[in-house]
Amino acid sequence: MKEIEKLDKIAITVRSHKLLKELLHENPRLEEIMRNAKNETEALVGVQNWIMGYLKAKPDAYRYFVNKQTGRETFEKLDWQDYAAIRILDYIDNAGREFPDLNLRGEIAVSNPIKLIWLGVNFGTGGAKPYFFKDMLQLFRQFSGKATREIPSREKVLEWMERYPSGLDPRIIKLREENRDRILTIIIEKINRGEIKDDHYFFEDEKTKEEKLETARKWWKERLFHLRFAVRSPKLLNELLGNSLDPDTMKILYDAEKAGIPFFVNPYYLSLLHVRVPYFAIGADLAIRHYIVYSQQLVNEFGHIVAWEKEDLVEPGKPNAAGWLLPSHNNVHRRYPEVAILIPDTMGRACGGLCSSCQRMFDFQRGNLNFDLQKLKPRESWSEKLEKLMNYFEEDSQLRDILITGGDAFMSSDQSIKKILNAILEMAKRKQEKNKKRKEGEKHAELVRVRFGTRLPVYLPQRITPELTEILADFKTRASEIGVKQFLVQTHFESPMEVTPEAREGVRLLISAGWTVTNQLVFTAPASRRGHSAKLRQVLNDIGILNYYTFTVKGYMENNFMFATNARAVQEQLEEKILGKIAEKDYETIRQFPMEAELMMENINALRKYNNIPFLATDRNVLNLPGVGKSLTFRVIGITRYGRRILEFDHDATRVHSPIIHKMGKVVIIESKSISEYLNQLEEMGEIISDYEGIYGYSIGETEERIPVFEYPEYDFDVTPELSNLVID
Ligand code: SF4
Repeated sequence: MKEIEKLDKIAITVRSHKLLKELLHENPRLEEIMRNAKNETEALVGVQNWIMGYLKAKPDAYRYFVNKQTGRETFEKLDWQDYAAIRILDYIDNAGREFPDLNLRGEIAVSNPIKLIWLGVNFGTGGAKPYFFKDMLQLFRQFSGKATREIPSREKVLEWMERYPSGLDPRIIKLREENRDRILTIIIEKINRGEIKDDHYFFEDEKTKEEKLETARKWWKERLFHLRFAVRSPKLLNELLGNSLDPDTMKILYDAEKAGIPFFVNPYYLSLLHVRVPYFAIGADLAIRHYIVYSQQLVNEFGHIVAWEKEDLVEPGKPNAAGWLLPSHNNVHRRYPEVAILIPDTMGRACGGLCSSCQRMFDFQRGNLNFDLQKLKPRESWSEKLEKLMNYFEEDSQLRDILITGGDAFMSSDQSIKKILNAILEMAKRKQEKNKKRKEGEKHAELVRVRFGTRLPVYLPQRITPELTEILADFKTRASEIGVKQFLVQTHFESPMEVTPEAREGVRLLISAGWTVTNQLVFTAPASRRGHSAKLRQVLNDIGILNYYTFTVKGYMENNFMFATNARAVQEQLEEKILGKIAEKDYETIRQFPMEAELMMENINALRKYNNIPFLATDRNVLNLPGVGKSLTFRVIGITRYGRRILEFDHDATRVHSPIIHKMGKVVIIESKSISEYLNQLEEMGEIISDYEGIYGYSIGETEERIPVFEYPEYDFDVTPELSNLVID
């Protein structure tokens, strides 16, 4: 007997029985089909005929189901029952399909929910867990019309947003000063006792306690201080947090240390965590806290993590998962034709901290990455390598956009950044010269966009100095002269509480250099609480940042704790982000924003005020697919016995992809947590579950359209359709 067949024999629990009984009681037609079916096939056919009868009477929804008419417009016309009908029929169409479940280290998962109900009804077996039955109960309530969709009012969303103060709230600023002094006092004591020795930061002569604190407050303004005094152990972490972490958490952290997960929390970022929690900010720092405090699941899985981003695995001479040939092992990543990521061999390979849900945890596990900052300084050979990498960009027919990242691009020294920017500028000039000799229609794409990927405005805003600003401004002037048009710093704020006076000043400097600052939020469980992302969008707009992407957490079981389900990502998009929806008539206005980037804050404010909206919803909620590209176009096509949903994603039809997507087809993702588990977790965070009513119903997604502010400028010549550096078998 196959392992899977054995599972069918497993008796369901009392709780599962009760939920099943409720399901049948509420749905007499379902009960009749289940009791009369002599085998699973009859059960499937019976349910299929029933649901198809409904859907055929709804022509638009039917065409959507059979993939004859999809897209955002049709999606927005689907009603709540249509969602349920499509899901049930998708379950039936995919019944019995087997999928390797990478959350369970490759164990095979089978989806056959109707069979599980039939087994439960007739034999009390099937092994389906209560979370599975809870999902089914909600599904049939949605189909029968018992559960309807209530879109929260604008007032309600604003009320949810108000629960989260920002780091610019004067009361929070005061608390952070308290935190800073607490951390500094402990560091000073350690220096006094000789436990910490540093050749740059020390006290020369006998100073009073107050004088030492005053000196240390000056150190606090320097980037170097925070890198040198970053916490690298759970013991010190707890000490600097006033020993406020509970023993259970500490056990996990000690286990994490034993498992080899690095710790790197700089004092500034640590000061954003509350030790003394004020009544008005209870739970407000959770999105930050869970970026620092590792979960039990991460510790359990460390050592077994598999790469999510398959296209980042590069073998020299062989195309990556997206079909691109790359010039080196570790320095260039590429998914799309127009853009490639440049990862320099500099300190930029490191970050100002380690986000617990980072996709690069896989690389830390392999030992490829670390926080050994000395070793990460550029080697002699880097200059030659940089030339080789630039040649790749120069010779490629489609590349027009270069994203310098890492790690974190701003971890590189000013000197390194200058060198990279100069190399890019020279490359762009050479590319243009070569183009002059090419005929119309055969010309290569020229460089139009330069980007930095950095979280330092959040982790270490002290890094954004007038000197760095000068380098960026100078580059913009020189690159604009040769026709480069877009200059972006992509950062990564997770919480309104990360928007501090220091971060605001760092962002102001970047904007003053004429660069557009955009944000990519990772939609972690704490960041997914009602109103949290909406508030973050608002606070970021306040300081002149445009929101760019809201990413579902990637990865498998290692990120189980941080994962917020895709159903919640769709719900957030349709129920909260909708408040900042930009009318099409404003597209042209917003497209002009980066042209006068220095006025970004004023322009954002004017548009918000004119439309009376709290924020500009310029970001798209998406998942970075493990194959190629970003998308939130999916349907729930299956569910495991544990109630974890199986989603089938399509690629984002609104952007240019590697042609490999035609070969790859759709991408199946098994979520690492059921909706019920997610809701339980929210309850643990103090949320009221009824506020999330309707989440089970969001089983379909369609990627939002890109707001024109993020589109590439047009060329005044025709680019060759030829794709170089591409190999598709
Ligand atoms: S800043 Fe980005 S790359 Fe660095 S640890 Fe965080 S998520 Fe990972």
